[in-house]
Amino acid sequence: MDIQKNLVSIKKQIHDYEVLYNRKPNSVFLLAASKGQSIEKMQQAVLAGQYAFGENYLQEALSKKLILVDKTIEWHFIGSIQSNKTKKIAENFNWVHSVSEKNIAERLNNQRPPHLPPLNICLEVNISQEKTKSGTDLADVFSLIEFCASLPHIKCRGLMTIPTPHDSFIEQRAEFHKLRSLFNDLNEKNFNLDTLSMGMSNDMQAAIAEESTIVRIGTAIFGPRE
Ligand SMILES: *Cc1c(COP(=O)(O)O)cnc(C)c1O
Repeated sequence: MDIQKNLVSIKKQIHDYEVLYNRKPNSVFLLAASKGQSIEKMQQAVLAGQYAFGENYLQEALSKKLILVDKTIEWHFIGSIQSNKTKKIAENFNWVHSVSEKNIAERLNNQRPPHLPPLNICLEVNISQEKTKSGTDLADVFSLIEFCASLPHIKCRGLMTIPTPHDSFIEQRAEFHKLRSLFNDLNEKNFNLDTLSMGMSNDMQAAIAEESTIVRIGTAIFGPRE
């Protein structure tokens, strides 16, 4: 697995899609989703200039952080959050993409160390409206975002989703379009959001077409997970 080569090729794709869909240059940020990937692969990514990593499991992330000590690395939590993990998450991450409950938002706010800047968060939305999916229901997003806006130690940057997987580009795009519409509605209500965290290895193009600002890419950079 040539991590450097994969990163160069993903970045070129991102650039090409920015051009294709009339996006501003460099408006799509590449987050390397590194759950289940070895520290050696992550070190290769750092050497190739990749400084933002998304992790799903707290213990795995904390042990990686002990080795990848470079202060310029940005750590994003993208997994589901149990309430007994919020303290360590609030202490160790720059971003949390997967906030879907008031209780979790409040705990992250209260447990964010005062010497650190507010924790950047995204609300995870169950855009496909499936019972089994993670994320908050569409009907509850407004009350959750209002609540988050009242908390001083977290900063609500935007929305995140993991849609039902589809093979067709058109169906992928339709899912992301729903999140983008919700994002635009919230900004009309002055929530000042700047982040749409959507798009993974298999649906990155559709996400960029629908105004994604952060794509979370795992296997296309690192290969299959261990
Ligand atoms: C694993 C994961 C990704 C990356 O998925 P790939 O298909 O490997 O690109 C992105 N986002 C979340 C939340 C994930 O759990």
